[in-house]
This record gives sequence, structure tokens and C-alpha cells, in this order.
Amino acid sequence: MKMKNKTKNSVLRNKIRNGERVRLKGLVKQQADELRIKNGQLRNGTKKQIRSEKQIKIRTKKIDEQREELLHVTRVGKLAEFVSSLAHEISQPLTAILSYAQAAQRMLADREPEIQKILSYIINDDQRAAEVIQRLRSLLKKGKPEMKPLDINTLINETVLLIATDAAVRNDVLKIELENNLPLVRGDRIQLQQVLLNLISNSFDALESIQGAREILIRTKRLDTGTIIVEVKDSGCGIPAHNMPKLFTRFFTSKPDGLGMGLSISRSIVEAHGGRLNVKNNPDRGATFYFTIPIGTKDV
Ligand code: ADP
Repeated sequence: MKMKNKTKNSVLRNKIRNGERVRLKGLVKQQADELRIKNGQLRNGTKKQIRSEKQIKIRTKKIDEQREELLHVTRVGKLAEFVSSLAHEISQPLTAILSYAQAAQRMLADREPEIQKILSYIINDDQRAAEVIQRLRSLLKKGKPEMKPLDINTLINETVLLIATDAAVRNDVLKIELENNLPLVRGDRIQLQQVLLNLISNSFDALESIQGAREILIRTKRLDTGTIIVEVKDSGCGIPAHNMPKLFTRFFTSKPDGLGMGLSISRSIVEAHGGRLNVKNNPDRGATFYFTIPIGTKDV
């Protein structure tokens, strides 16, 4: 009887062990399957991530290149404007020198051949310099602006994209508040972008030594039925009252390496578009530059 029970117990134990083994095997298989699926998903996910990281890298590189190009164009634009006004300033005294030298020649008539000779050298060199200046001016003469219908909000978004990295590097916060469904305006895309870039890069400079919030807010609003207003507001150093009247005059700068051309160029561009560019200090901190631009009529 005892023996019989013992055999029965061992059969039962074997059965349980076999059952357990089958159950465990199933469990292991199930977990292995799950792991395989997860592994596959992970691999797919990683591949996708690598792909999107690559795309981000390519896109960032492209944006950086565009930004560099635009900054270069702005710099060249400023320089070209600078050289062109310099040429204008120089050509006036050159003309005066020429007419004084010619008058002196006439007064001397046939006398003082040595002085006559010197005067003719002066006249020749003056004319040579005037020619160089003339060539330079015709080289720098800008083409006609290309006035086309454009969406000012899109232009601002594109511009912000170009300088976003710059703002981040400087720890400046760039915000935009663009009014929806603004009508199209008529303008030269590159020139208006140059105005925006000038204003934003001035805000960058104004924020340079600021402690606390460093913000630039770009806003568009419909001012009235026929006008859109664009504002570039910063929490920078603001403008001392005594500088206000000089701000838009050529060559006025408070920066050691400034050209003092940006605002005067920007104002002439805005005015060529039928708008006005102005500035006010903010009640709390910083300044707001704002320009108006007329809404395009039916022909835009
Ligand atoms: P530049 O930047 O070469 O000095 P600009 O014509 O663009 O030439 O600007 C003229 C001057 O206007 C600047 O030197 C600065 O004093 C003042 N200015 C322009 N923008 C700002 C601003 N956002 N905040 C304070 N001052 C400004």
C-alpha cells in the first residue's frame, strides 16, 4: 500500500513537472516573441530617428547657409550704400577743385609756365579721380525694386527662421504676434526683408548688455482699412532723448563699429513703398521701431 502510494506520488510529481515545463516553455516562447517584436520596433524606431535626425541636420545646414547668405547680402547692401554716399560726398569737392584749378589756369593765361604745369597735373588727377568715382557709382546703382504682391506675415516668418539661431546663441527670446488674414501688400521682398533684418539686428545690439528679460517681439496689425503696421519691439537699452532726432540721419551711430546706415536705408525703403518708419521708447524698457505699409489695391 505504501509502495503504491509512493509510485502514485512520483507519477503525479512527474506530471506536474511536465506540465510546468510546458507552461514555462510557452511563457519563454511568448516572451521571446514579444522581445523579437519589440526589438524590431526599436530598430525601426532607431532607423526612423536616425533618418529624421539626418533630415534635421540637412535642414539646419540649409537654414544656416541661407542665413549667412542673407547676412552677407545685408552687409554688402550696407557697404554698397555707404560707398555710394561716400562717392557722392567726394565728387562734390572734386568738382570744386577742378573748377578752381581751371579758373587759376585762365587767370594766369600765358604767364608762370611752371605753375601752369602744376595746375594741369591737378586738373588731370582730379579728372581721373572723378572718373573712378563715376565708375564706382554706376557699379553700385541699384536695380529697380521688384514690386510684387506679398504676404507680410509670411515674409516675417521666413525672416525669423533665418535669424532664430542667432537669437538663440545670444540668449534673446524672439516672439511673433501676427494678425490673421491680413491682406496682401505690394513690395520688394528683398528690400522689406532688409528692413526687418536691420531692425532686428539693431535690437540684438540693444539687448547686448541687458540683464534680465531679453525679448524681441515682432507684431503685425491692421492699422486701418488701407494700412498694415509692423512693429519690432525690444527690451533693450532704449534710445536717449538727445539721440532721437539724429537716429535716421545717415552715418549717425552710437556703436564703435557702426556704419550708421541701417536706419536711413530702412526709412528710404519704407518710404519708397508708400509707408513711414518711426520709433518710440517703450514705457518700461527698450524701444519699438514700427513701419506702416499700404495694403495693395486691386491690381496687386
Ligand atoms: P548702426 O547700427 O550701424 O549704428 P543704424 O542706422 O542701424 O546704424 O542705427 C543708428 C543708431 O540708432 C544706432 O547706433 C543706435 O544708437 C540706435 N538704435 C537703432 N536701433 C536701436 C534699438 N533697437 N535700440 C536702441 N538704439 C537703437
